[in-house]
Amino acid sequence: MGKYAVIKATLKAKLDELVERASAIEASMGTPGNSDWEENAIESEDDDVLLTIGDVTTSDIAEIRLAISRIDSGHYGQCVTCGKAISKERLAALPYATRCIDCS
Ligand SMILES: [Zn+2]
Repeated sequence: MGKYAVIKATLKAKLDELVERASAIEASMGTPGNSDWEENAIESEDDDVLLTIGDVTTSDIAEIRLAISRIDSGHYGQCVTCGKAISKERLAALPYATRCIDCS
């Protein structure tokens, strides 16, 4: 077990929850009768469709994936922008923080 095994498990659970929520929203948006959405969807790339679902959810998913990959690479807790350590208090409040207070 790695140093951040518990945090990683927590992040993965949160990630699963958000991915499930995003796909549920996507599914409900794709229901027949919503012709405007259907037409738009044909012209959109998958990423664009996801963005229309909700910026908060999709950016959270991206942040959590980044945090998990940084646990795997051994860089968890280090700011992606300036490279300084992210404070323990900040990580406790926001386990998937990838930037320090100054850079966020
Ligand atoms: Zn920073």
